[in-house]
Parts: sequence; C-alpha cells; structure tokens
Amino acid sequence: MNTLPWTNLWLQRSPSFYQRVDPTPLAGPYFVHCNEQAARLLGLNAEDLGTETALRCFNGDEPLPGMQPIATVYAGHQFGIFTSRLGDGRAITLGGTLGANGETYEIQLKGAGLTPYSRTLDGRYPLGAAIREYLAGEALAALGIPSTRALCLLGSRTEIRRDRSETAAILVRMARSHVRFGHFEYFHHRDEIDDLRELFVFVIEQHFPELLDEAAEKWPLRFLETVIGRTARLIAGWQSAGFVHGVMNTDNMTLSGETLDLGPFGFMETYDPGFSPNPSDDQRRYQYDQQPDIGRWNCLALAQAFTSLLPSPTIPASLLRLYRQTYQQHYLQAMRAKLGLQTQHPDDIDLVNSLLSALALSGADYAGFFRELARFEPGRGLTYSAPLRNWLACYQDRLSLEKAPPNERRDRMNRVNPCYVLRAHLLYQVEQKAEKGDFTELERLLKLVQNPYEEQPGMAFYSQPQQQDNISRRLG
Ligand code: AMP
Ligand code: MG
Repeated sequence: MNTLPWTNLWLQRSPSFYQRVDPTPLAGPYFVHCNEQAARLLGLNAEDLGTETALRCFNGDEPLPGMQPIATVYAGHQFGIFTSRLGDGRAITLGGTLGANGETYEIQLKGAGLTPYSRTLDGRYPLGAAIREYLAGEALAALGIPSTRALCLLGSRTEIRRDRSETAAILVRMARSHVRFGHFEYFHHRDEIDDLRELFVFVIEQHFPELLDEAAEKWPLRFLETVIGRTARLIAGWQSAGFVHGVMNTDNMTLSGETLDLGPFGFMETYDPGFSPNPSDDQRRYQYDQQPDIGRWNCLALAQAFTSLLPSPTIPASLLRLYRQTYQQHYLQAMRAKLGLQTQHPDDIDLVNSLLSALALSGADYAGFFRELARFEPGRGLTYSAPLRNWLACYQDRLSLEKAPPNERRDRMNRVNPCYVLRAHLLYQVEQKAEKGDFTELERLLKLVQNPYEEQPGMAFYSQPQQQDNISRRLG
C-alpha cells in the first residue's frame, strides 16, 4: 500500500470544485473484507491491502505521505427535481493512484465523516448498506456490466442512528473517475461558465485524451456523444441482466458509464416490467421498464448543462437519436447472446419481446429461466407453462437458422447467463449475519457472484428465488 504513488490532480484546479477535508476516524476500525480482485487492478494482493498501515490510512487515523483528501461539490436532479447543492456530503477523495495496467484510479472513502457539503446529514455509511454496495459492484462487474468497485470495507464500533441504531462503515471505492453528471449541472446552474469550462477541460485531459488531437471547439459535442453512448450501453447491460438501480438521479450517473452509488438496487426474480426495489420511489419513476427512458432523460440533463459550451444553444437531435440507437443495438446484442443466437434475423427483437410477455404471464424467474434455457432440447419443453411452451416452439424454429451445434450453444449460453445473481433474500441473510459480526455469509456470496457462471456443488440455494415454493416456478 505505501509503495503506491499518490497524486491529487484536483488540487491544481479551481478551488470552486472542492474543499480540503480530512476523514473523521471511526472507533475500533477493522477490515470486514479486502477485495483481492480489485486490489489486483492496483498491482496489490489482499495481504498488501489488509495491513495496519492501510487500515489507519482508510480510517483517517494516519494518511499516507502525499495524500491530501478532498470532497467535491455537485448538484443533481433527484426524482426529476433539481437540487442545486446536493453532494458530496459523505465521500472523501483520497487521491489518484496508478493501476497495474497504467491507468489512474481515484480512491474514495464513503462514510468517512462530515464534509463541508454534508448539509444536515452525518457523513456516515451504515454497515448493511455498505455491504450491499460492496457486493453489487462485484456482481455487476462479474457480469461484464461496468461498475465502480470497492477495494475494501471497514467496520467499526461507532454507532449511528437510522431507523434503528447501526454500526458505521467506510467503503473504500475506486473508479477511473467519480465525476458525475451533477458536477457539471452544479456550475451550469450557477452560471459559472469559467468553472464549468475548467472542469470540462480537466475531465477531457484526464479521461478523454483521444479528444485532445481534435479542435477544442469539437470537444463538447464529441464528449457528449461518448458519454451518451456509454450510458446507453450501461443501461442495455442492466436491462438484459434484469438489474434495477433504484435511484437513477443525475448525480448517480458517471461520465465513465460505470454504475455508481448502489443503494436500493435489485435483481428481478419473477419477470415484472414494473419491478422497483426502492420503496421510497413512490411514483415508480425508476422501475425496471423506465430505466432506458430515464437514462435518456439524464443524458438530456447533462447535455443541457453543456449548452453554454456548445456552438449553438440547441441540443442537437442527433445526440438523442444516438442514445436510442446505441441502446437498442446493445440490448439486442445482449439478448441474442442470452438466447444463444449467433446469427442475426430481423425478427429477433419480436422473439425477445414475445419471450418477455410469456415470462410475465408465467411468473418464471428471470435469471433461472435463461440458465435453464441452455439445456433446452427440441421436444423437451413439457415442464414449462403454456405461454412459454408456445414461445419455445418459435425459439426452436429460430434455432434451426443457427449453424453451431447444440453443445457449443449451451456452453456459450452458460457463459452469459449467470447461475448466481445477487438476490434480495441472499443479501438479507448476509446483512443479518453481518450485524452480529459474522461475515462468513458475505464471503460465501461474494465468491459466488464474482464467478457467477460456474455452478458450484452444494450451492443450489444460492441460485434460487426467494421462497421455496417459488422454486417450482423457475421453469414457469
Ligand atoms: P444518495 O441519495 O445516497 O446518492 O445521496 C445524495 C447526496 O446526499 C450525496 O451527495 C451524498 O453525499 C449526500 N448524503 C447522503 N447520505 C448522507 C449522509 N449520511 N451524510 C452526508 N451526506 C449524505
Ligand atoms: Mg448518490
């Protein structure tokens, strides 16, 4: 850990972007978990990470030489409504360090105490919620869906008040960049165009170096095209995996197109277009079937924050067409892969949509259905419900256009359709045990979701939906 080079490039930029702030240590800190996979991205192993020095650094007892922690300010649209000064009230950026692949990663502490932007809140992160974010980042990354990830998780004796008393945690997370749509919205809303431009150039220099070869007046449009493309692709990944973020506010959207701020998320079990894991989303703005449109809405909000930097104040229609096209292309590509289709047929989107209707009627488990489908053989669809049997007849016809032998198709499908997803009942079990200081279940589930395609002996419980009586519904 102490061999890593630390820089904080924010410190060379406008003081409007951030304030220096030191983490406030928790009492009795300890490592809940060190993420070997994420550590490797920094050229470390879990032992290098789990040291006393690292613990003291991440808990804010003793920063490493060169670290000058900051909190950055951002705004954002929450549930469609703009809040001009929203965050970052509970994330402290330690700085950037070099990854094993030569890329720079920004390391951030979530829950390390008050910052100048904490408003009336406490700057703390309850252990249960931090565990959820920790596991979800890993589960998504393993499914090939871009996500911010955590390097490690610290627990403590410090008690904090939520609905009930809980212990506080610090999540040490890493991303190529933690800059959100809301960072730009903040300066746009305040009409601070020089700061907006400076932030933009900062981001281009660090994260979009390919644009530096182009004329500077082209940067804003090219940047928006890239971010919109990444966002559309991200949401296509969520939809195909049956994942719902739960809080798609613009401040939870990154420029890198990585999933960020995993709170009340959920993986769908029974297929339901109205699935919403967030009980405080009364209007169901962020339910499953709304996510693609909300992604577009958020991109529009980002584009609006750039109007003063674009050659014309009107947002080009081509940008929003780009969102739809990219989304549809990536979604269809992902669904074809889930169905084991290598060729393309113009009716494939209809085949997907008719499957979703049949799944909704049958109440089948989404992930379970696709996993089982790899085993499907013509004439063996009898265990399925009537709507799915009808669909399987169409699927069988469609398969006749494929050239690959069934065995090969099955192997391919098993590499894209996970056996293990982060189901709510599994997370609940992890949280219950963690509250009592037992992290064995966390460890077990983490291993499964980090390697979700490999069926493990004796682990059938982890691939099944909530209730035992639902198991028979897996096949519809
Ligand atoms: P979220 O809904 O968790 O994405 O949070 C929205 C904003 O509120 C973020 O900028 C957070 O930094 C801030 N926030 C959320 N919870 C807390 C907290 N416990 N203390 C301080 N700020 C918080
Ligand atoms: Mg957030």
